[in-house]
Amino acid sequence: MYDYVIIGAGIIGTTIARELSKYPLKILVLEKENDIANHQTTANSAIIHSGHDPKPGTLKAKLCVRGNMLYIALEKELSIPLLKTGAFVVAHDQSEEQMLMQLKNRATINGVHDAHLLSGDEARLQEPNLTKKATMVLSLPSTMVTYPWEVAMAALENAITNGVSFEKNSEVVAIHPEESDFSIVLKSGKIIKTHHIISASGILSDHIAAMLERDVPYTIHPRKGEYYVLDRKAKHLFSHVLYPLPTEKGKGVLIVPQVHGNILLGPTSTPVESKDTASTTPQGMAQIREDLKRLADSIPFELIIRSFAGIRASSSYDDFYIQESKEVKGFYHVAGIDSPGLTAAPAIAEYLVQEVLKISVSKKEQFNPIRKKQKAFYSLSPEDRKALIKTDPRYGNIICKCEKITEAEIVSAIHGVTGNDTIKGIKKRARAGGGLCQGGYCESLVLKIIARETGKPLNSINYYAENTPILVVETKVKK
Ligand SMILES: Cc1cc2nc3c(=O)[nH]c(=O)nc-3n(C[C@H](O)[C@H](O)[C@H](O)COP(=O)(O)OP(=O)(O)OC[C@H]3O[C@@H](n4cnc5c(N)ncnc54)[C@H](O)[C@@H]3O)c2cc1C
Repeated sequence: MYDYVIIGAGIIGTTIARELSKYPLKILVLEKENDIANHQTTANSAIIHSGHDPKPGTLKAKLCVRGNMLYIALEKELSIPLLKTGAFVVAHDQSEEQMLMQLKNRATINGVHDAHLLSGDEARLQEPNLTKKATMVLSLPSTMVTYPWEVAMAALENAITNGVSFEKNSEVVAIHPEESDFSIVLKSGKIIKTHHIISASGILSDHIAAMLERDVPYTIHPRKGEYYVLDRKAKHLFSHVLYPLPTEKGKGVLIVPQVHGNILLGPTSTPVESKDTASTTPQGMAQIREDLKRLADSIPFELIIRSFAGIRASSSYDDFYIQESKEVKGFYHVAGIDSPGLTAAPAIAEYLVQEVLKISVSKKEQFNPIRKKQKAFYSLSPEDRKALIKTDPRYGNIICKCEKITEAEIVSAIHGVTGNDTIKGIKKRARAGGGLCQGGYCESLVLKIIARETGKPLNSINYYAENTPILVVETKVKK
């Protein structure tokens, strides 16, 4: 019997798991996919927003500003990457300048006290490739960028170190309330008993809630965002996050420097029917190119290395919905977590535990907040690299030539605390395949290493989700 079962291992479920692991409780995280954070948490803009934009007084405003602050501590505790870029919101004429001043007031009300206005020329001194059409910007120095997927992994690893259990490939298909507990039924048929349930199931929150509630207090309306990624050769072109003025559809198409040196361009914001498919479209790609003209006069589109899309779990509730169910005691919604959910995640976890769950037991004395991460082999000094190769010769075998990732790093991604045996799982953990050729060279080598390390046949190794093998049949059989 668990005290709390958390459904969903995105950034919200994993940060809640870490927050709860500070208490002497029995906690389990269930994830339907074969890896953590495969949905919204893996496909977003990666911005730790300052909190300038949400409507004052909302949970989005309060938890965004608090979350931004908490990331500073998380950077050290969890060894997560955090790029302190700052941001500019760009205005082009007098009427937009008026809107920018209103946005600055909103930022101040929300508690973003370092927000300030700059003339276009002042901004171009700091960001030379900002469009010449910019007449004024709102500067937001506390804006940062992270690697969202790694934050979720780090939070879960740390939660596991502190006693939390995690089961992947564990889709919740039914929940039965019993006298004072719940029975959770998984797709495999397994039944799990718990006193409380926290639903952090993203785009499927309304689906999970409907397993228990007659009147779910919100519906989720998926909204797709499409992106281009520029190669690291574009790294020197932009150092700030660049936003246009926000509209009712969201923050608009942005320019976002990434922690690994790439530049992200997007996202669009299109309502979609399907909660499953996040593919890019010619219309979305064309819209990005058009909208970017508001931010920069020239973008090197020839440096695009890939495109992708993510689906926001926007809800009819118009704010984060973080409450105990009004119908079923012991069932907690953490729903409608669209942007700025990545930023707010650590504050959402803190708010849930302190204000909603109101945990009454004292914190564990032995909670260990630290998750250590080994530095990338290539970032080490030549002496340190030589020393590592001496201890493990697999450090001397470069598998991903673009990102200079070694065989030893791939092996450790397979066998880590939250290790994984898919091509994309290794790309996310070790960055093998994350460079210019996008795995064209190293994918087959990674595949062989996964097969060797797991003892599985080559044609059973998945690219991403279950049943996505990239080798199907042998075409050249040696006689
Ligand atoms: C295009 C886009 C851009 C964004 N940009 C930003 C940004 O720059 N900054 C920012 O702060 N926020 C941003 N966001 C918002 C942010 O990404 C999300 O708020 C955040 O990732 C939500 O995390 P989550 O854990 O709630 O959802 P998810 O990451 O979707 O995780 C939910 C998990 O629940 C699992 N699950 C669902 N049903 C079940 C079931 N039945 N059984 C078991 N598991 C289940 C899913 O498989 C999934 O892993 C953006 C979002 C999008 C889509």
